[in-house]
Amino acid sequence: MTIYADHNATSPLRPEAREAMLAAMDAGANPSSVHAPGRAARKLMEAAREDVGGAIGVRAQDLVFTSGGTEANALALIGAAAQLDGRATLLISALEHESVANNAARAGVPVELIPATAAGLVDLDWLRDRLARWEEADGAPLLSLMLANNETGVIQPVAEAATLVRERDGLVHCDAVQGLGKIPVNPTLLGADYLALSAHKCGGPHGVGALYVRPGAPLKPQLLGGGQERSVRSGTENLSGIAGFGAAARAAVAELPSQAARAAKRDAFEAKILAAAPGCIRFGAEAERLPNTSCFALPGFKSEIQVMSLDLAGRAISAGSACSSGKVKRSGVLSAMGVPDAVADCAIRTSYGWNTDDADYDAVAEAWIAAAKRTVLKESA
Ligand code: PLP
Repeated sequence: MTIYADHNATSPLRPEAREAMLAAMDAGANPSSVHAPGRAARKLMEAAREDVGGAIGVRAQDLVFTSGGTEANALALIGAAAQLDGRATLLISALEHESVANNAARAGVPVELIPATAAGLVDLDWLRDRLARWEEADGAPLLSLMLANNETGVIQPVAEAATLVRERDGLVHCDAVQGLGKIPVNPTLLGADYLALSAHKCGGPHGVGALYVRPGAPLKPQLLGGGQERSVRSGTENLSGIAGFGAAARAAVAELPSQAARAAKRDAFEAKILAAAPGCIRFGAEAERLPNTSCFALPGFKSEIQVMSLDLAGRAISAGSACSSGKVKRSGVLSAMGVPDAVADCAIRTSYGWNTDDADYDAVAEAWIAAAKRTVLKESA
């Protein structure tokens, strides 16, 4: 049986989510219909909205369901810039997921990249300096900063950055896709006006997510149609997906108390790898990280070779971020951290989750060590 260590790409469907989805699939009516079956479908959808809202400490009515994290990020950035009539400058960290970086470029306003530090954190000094030089012509500062990086797991100082931006009457979007269920997520505490979530990162289904929008925050709808989701995002909602999302979010957040124990297991996993291969470099390990994520490289041991060797051994890990795997591409995140290309080309990520057994950490470490011994560590084997 394959041991799965790629939860940051997709966390497998939780049984609770599957059950909720099957029930919703049988609802057999449109949640916008006024008849009894329609009202029953709406009830399921609104219960899920309460669950997702509860998971991040916001009112259900401030959530807009979307087709996933990508759409939530796009809606926040493009929708906010459009509602401000383009009188804004987007400040995005160099660590953002492609769904932020690529949609920022389409928002119709200038985009500036906030550099990252070698530790994998957004450079707050750069942001402070830039905001001190802010001019009328720059419009409103619109910050997009992720809560936790998908590749390194490094948790970003969103609340601190948001305070700086607020002093300049700016707006803050937070891509919290990787945070939900792994660390506490709360847009109010983070100072975020917009916050993106994705169901499949916490054990819900693919193709469904949500955007939190602070009441009163500017946002121009991007998908027009029948006026669903209070006209912010038209289109008949993905009822079964949303039901699965609600159940997954509830279950994921209930696991937060066990995350410290998971971090300890992750640390023991890394210690085992480092003991066998002292030349291994861990990324982001000096910063606060998600409890489930490890990102490391053994120079000379190419990412693709590692992923393939472990796959043959029945261990699923990832090279860089999931969206760029399949077309193995150098990690922009590691480059932004100043990691030399030759080292970045050897980086892999392991990410554990709700269905990880204690024995899985050792099974992945042992397969990795055996593969390394067959290739780069062969002299010392
Ligand atoms: N943001 C981050 C940090 C991610 O890791 C991902 C998925 O890889 C996304 C956004 C996109 O989410 P989705 O796959 O739901 O579109």
